[in-house]
Amino acid sequence: MSSSRNRSIAAHIIPECEASLQTPDWQQSLSSAFTDLPSLLKYLQLDDGRSPGTEQAMQGFSLRVPRAFAALMQPGDPHDPLLRQVLPLAEEMSPIAGFTGNPVGDKESEACPGLLHKYQGRALIVATGACAVHCRYCFRRHYAYSNGSASPRQWMRILDYLRKHNEIEEVILSGGDPLMVNDERLADWLEQLESLPQIKRLRLHTRLPVVLPQRIGPQLIGLLTRGRFETVIVIHANHPNELSPQVAEAMGQLKAAGITLLNQSVLLKGVNDKAETLVKLSERLFSIGVLPYYLHLLDRVAGAAHFEVEETRALEIQQALRARLPGYLVPRMVREIAGELCKIPV
Ligand SMILES: *Cc1c(COP(=O)(O)O)cnc(C)c1O
Ligand code: SF4
Repeated sequence: MSSSRNRSIAAHIIPECEASLQTPDWQQSLSSAFTDLPSLLKYLQLDDGRSPGTEQAMQGFSLRVPRAFAALMQPGDPHDPLLRQVLPLAEEMSPIAGFTGNPVGDKESEACPGLLHKYQGRALIVATGACAVHCRYCFRRHYAYSNGSASPRQWMRILDYLRKHNEIEEVILSGGDPLMVNDERLADWLEQLESLPQIKRLRLHTRLPVVLPQRIGPQLIGLLTRGRFETVIVIHANHPNELSPQVAEAMGQLKAAGITLLNQSVLLKGVNDKAETLVKLSERLFSIGVLPYYLHLLDRVAGAAHFEVEETRALEIQQALRARLPGYLVPRMVREIAGELCKIPV
């Protein structure tokens, strides 16, 4: 009783203090995400499509869909391209030759727990295993994450490694999704990274600006821009329908703060395997201040075979994109091959 009274008094005197005691809006939205299939299907006015296979699929990799993302799906359409990305299917459970648990050699390139060092000059920190949305095609769906963010001990080791490898000039915060980490912790990490003079660029690979645009706001932007880093944010959208007015608004804020904005997509059967869709995606991205960066061929992760687009079809799509778009709106079509020194152009 008395503590809530004190808080409400404090709110009148020092509102910033009160704000930091509240759960931020984005975390509240996160906790209201769909996590069970019947509720999502009911919301979309679809039949309950559960089967023993889908149940099994969800045990391996749970369902998670923020409401803002579900709101962009077409009710009544089981083939909606946004729904396809998150819908657990019984097919995931059939083993397919060539689709494995560790398709891109992440385990082999782990320099220390939570740090992947595959490419020259860049290192990738698995900031957290958590994501706001669970994408069924995700190449890290079997990666042995802990769901929490990197521990202080892990951070010490990561910083040690970076210090010893002063050719690393760019740090990529990835995951999982690094923007699942709260602002206080992010600020702390950035401060520690800034203490390493060799690091020039900070990059975030995040899907939150697309699936939970509320995450972007003055507080986050402040902490990303107050230091000396050149900051790049690589978002992840696969279909133009994902880019709602709220996403556009979030991108506008980031762009106004001088952050470079790029997008990566995965080429996915039944989602964006038509040139027309990808043309619209590039155009829409550009109109909200984002340039297309990579179009990844699917990593051959177990459970995702039903998303694979044949390479001949992928090449046709690439040709069509080149014929129809200015060069700067054509994403680089790449495949990740374990042990290679970069992502390989197709
Ligand atoms: C994709 C990736 C990068 C970044 O590669 P770019 O070609 O610079 O975008 C860096 N580290 C790891 C481990 C990656 O998987
Ligand atoms: S947001 Fe990215 S890391 Fe998370 S499940 Fe989707 S593809 Fe995987």
